[in-house]
Amino acid sequence: MSTDTLPHPEKSPERPGGELIRLEGVTKRFGDNTVLDHLDFSVAAGKHVTLIGPSGSGKTTILRLLMTLIKPDEGTIVVDGQHLFPASEKQCREVRKRIGMVFQQFNLFPNMTVLRNITEAPVTVLGLTRDEAVERARELLDLVGLADKCDAHPAQLSGGQQQRVAIARALAMRPKVLLLDEVTSALDPELVAGVLDLLRDIARSTDITMLCVTHEMNFARDISDKVLMFDSGRVIEAGAPEKIFSEPEHDRTREFLSAVL
Ligand code: ADP
Repeated sequence: MSTDTLPHPEKSPERPGGELIRLEGVTKRFGDNTVLDHLDFSVAAGKHVTLIGPSGSGKTTILRLLMTLIKPDEGTIVVDGQHLFPASEKQCREVRKRIGMVFQQFNLFPNMTVLRNITEAPVTVLGLTRDEAVERARELLDLVGLADKCDAHPAQLSGGQQQRVAIARALAMRPKVLLLDEVTSALDPELVAGVLDLLRDIARSTDITMLCVTHEMNFARDISDKVLMFDSGRVIEAGAPEKIFSEPEHDRTREFLSAVL
C-alpha cells in the first residue's frame, strides 16, 4: 500500500533510543481496587507493543491513562517527552494530539458523514483548512478501502466498515502513537480478519508506534515487537512474541494462552 498518507513520526528527540512512552511506578486504584500496581514499562518510537492478559487485569486502564482520560494515584507517565501528571490541560491537549485511539465500540459521531467524521479533528484541533482535511481524508478512505463511503453515515455501514473509518479518523491526525483497544471485539466474526489485515498493513508500512490491547493472539504474534502479559495490574512476563507464545515462563501465562489459543 502507499505509505505517503500515513504518519512517519520522527524518533523522539528528547530521549536517546527514541523512547516514546514511559511508565514508572504507576499505581491506579478505583476505591479499594488496585487496578495497576507500581507498573513500569516503556515503548520505543516505532515499536509495536501488545498487552495481553485476562479481563480486568488493567490493560484498558493503561490506554486511558495515556489518553489523560484518568489520572494515576502514583507514578510517572511520560509521552513524547511530556510528563502527563501533573500537567496543565493545555499540555494534556498537546499530548492527546499526538495520540490516536481506536476503541472497541468505534465511537464515530453518528450524526456526521464518514468524511466529516475524519475531517473534524484535523480542522478544529490541528488547524488544517477544510480542503486539506478533505484531501487527507479521501486518501485515508482509499487506504482503508472505503473511498465510496464518504457521504454515508455510520449507521449505514457494517461494524467492520465503521471500524475502518475509526482507524482512518485516528490516522488523519498523523499521530505518533496509535492506541488500539480490543478493536475487533465488537465485530461479527467474518469482519474481524479484514480489520486485522488493515492494521497489519499499517504496522508493516509505517513508523507509527502502536500499543495494542487484544485477544487476537495470532495478530499479536504477527505485529508485535514485544508482548506484555498482565495479571492483576502487573506485568508478569514480557518478551518477544516467539518467546511469550512458544516458551512462556510463567504458569499464569501458560494458563491464559491455553484458554485463548
Ligand atoms: P482489562 O482492560 O484488562 O480488561 P480494565 O483496565 O478495563 O481491565 O479494568 C481493570 C479493573 O479496573 C477492573 O476490575 C475494572 O472493573 C476496574 N475499573 C476500570 N475502570 C473503572 C472505573 N471507572 N471505576 C471503577 N472501576 C473501574
